[in-house]
Amino acid sequence: MKHREKLKDKKRIVVKIGTGLISHENGSINLQRIEKLVRVLADLHNMGKEVLLVSSGAVGAGMGKIANGKKPESIIEKQALAAIGQAELLRMYQKFFDEYNQTLGQVLLTRDGIENSVRRKNARNTILRLLEMNAIPVINENDTVSTEEIEFGDNDMLSAQVANLIQADLLIILTNTNGVFTADPHVHDDAKQVSVVMKAEEDLKGINLEGKSKLGSGGMETKIQAAEMCREHNIDVVIAEGFSPALIYDILDGLPFGTLFVSEATERNSA
Ligand code: GLU
Repeated sequence: MKHREKLKDKKRIVVKIGTGLISHENGSINLQRIEKLVRVLADLHNMGKEVLLVSSGAVGAGMGKIANGKKPESIIEKQALAAIGQAELLRMYQKFFDEYNQTLGQVLLTRDGIENSVRRKNARNTILRLLEMNAIPVINENDTVSTEEIEFGDNDMLSAQVANLIQADLLIILTNTNGVFTADPHVHDDAKQVSVVMKAEEDLKGINLEGKSKLGSGGMETKIQAAEMCREHNIDVVIAEGFSPALIYDILDGLPFGTLFVSEATERNSA
């Protein structure tokens, strides 16, 4: 519990939301969910927090708009659907952020861009400048140019890279289960939630993490990898259910919601 208390003080917060949460099954955008999420993020921003959103959903929105929810069969088709879907997605974010009088800045990244030191510096400077300008960066992979060789693969890893890039205080990964469970809770009624992770190899030993998201590219395994990467860089992570985005307030109030991955720095400061 003492580790959760520390979440109240987090200032620079990256929130990641996946395609499954912001799209309906046919890929079209879930307006209600986006509206609720934006309302919370705008409110956090008004409280003085620095807020960054990593949002998937470009390919999904493209599928919803012109492909009747059908998954792309080639990389070129995926890139084209992402081009259509990203514009659609940002239009919706812009509309809702506008309603709450917030400015957003779209940032599209590729893995090779973040790994190249000059481009990494550019990306970092731009994002930090957006925060100084009081804008909310809305970040996605640049799927229109991403191919297997240069892609992050999924936005779980992208969100961890972004958190690391700008030394965030906290990454919140919103998904369809309330954190990590001892088994898939959609299949096993007796699955138990893991509330706090200090060391993944010990605390998550023996847990079967198979299973991928239906519309997005990640799964619990990639979320844990992302969380571990952040922990190594002294960033705390919460993986939690995102059906009701207002529960982000509970996370930041230190309530035992989702799974908290405690970084070594937080562990030292809580001792
Ligand atoms: N960047 C992809 C999109 O916006 C999603 C990747 C993922 O599902 O993690 O559609």
